[in-house]
Amino acid sequence: MSESKTPRICVVGSANIDLIFRTPRMPALGETIAGTALHQCMGGKGANQAVVAARLGGEVTFIASVGSDAFGAESISAYEAEGIDASYISRASDQPTGTAAIFVDDEAENCIIVVAGANALLSPESIRAAANVIEQSDAVLCQLETPVDAAVEAFRIARAANTTTILTPAPAKSVTDELLSLCDVCVPNKTEITLISGIAIESEDDAIRAAEVLRAKGVKQVALTLGSEGVLVLDDFGQTKIPAMKVAAVDTTGAGDAFTGGLAMSLAGSPGLADAARRAAIVAAISVTKIGTQTSFPTLEEVEAWTT
Ligand code: ADP
Repeated sequence: MSESKTPRICVVGSANIDLIFRTPRMPALGETIAGTALHQCMGGKGANQAVVAARLGGEVTFIASVGSDAFGAESISAYEAEGIDASYISRASDQPTGTAAIFVDDEAENCIIVVAGANALLSPESIRAAANVIEQSDAVLCQLETPVDAAVEAFRIARAANTTTILTPAPAKSVTDELLSLCDVCVPNKTEITLISGIAIESEDDAIRAAEVLRAKGVKQVALTLGSEGVLVLDDFGQTKIPAMKVAAVDTTGAGDAFTGGLAMSLAGSPGLADAARRAAIVAAISVTKIGTQTSFPTLEEVEAWTT
């Protein structure tokens, strides 16, 4: 990240508005109750990763689909305020901007309903329209809250141009073998790698075997995130365990996206996945010390302050 050349990062994925309703308790079926607070936040794994990379100083383009509604306009303004190129975000006329209704009660339990809306319309055609951006980027990042065929198209274009392909396989049920075969770096968490490989992760040996299943499907390198236990990197040099930084965690939502955005930025200027993952783990650790998702992502200056 401290290299003189500014990393170019292209993110393909979801843009959501999260509406967080605080309530003393969950309503029963058919019941109406008074909530205590309402918070509106920016979300979606794609948007999260784009914001992380932009805060760390990347030249970021976000390819996404939002509605022609007020949430869509607000989202685009917010990305532009972060310095993200939003010119490849399409506006759907017949679907709303992706929205999550998140109910959180006084016991901190939650219930969530997500409407994908315009996210479901992100198409291979919209990816092809941005082919030159993908070709000129250091890395392209995909997740699976938008259609898998759009991710496949992005990775195909990237492969042909030697742009590094980085995949967050979430939700894991949407992963295909074709997408994995085009993946340079896969960044699953424990739940996701278990769903893809069929191997429950109870030990480091399990993690190594599960990562080998991904590598057999064509994934070149794996960075398996293990929450407060850190990251296990499996690359051509073998496996490296990177412990998480010891911090007072207050909210781990978005930690995986912070890690992946940071990883893409570090990889653009660093030869090895393990070194890049060490740096990304610092970005993720800072994010868990703050409440919220995008509000918790650090700037480059904050990361430098933690590392010096
Ligand atoms: P996800 O958010 O996708 O479930 P993880 O929970 O595995 O992903 O977290 C991603 C990364 O964030 C971890 O590999 C680690 O580097 C960092 N992280 C998560 N929780 C903590 C924590 N409590 N303390 C320090 N770092 C953490």
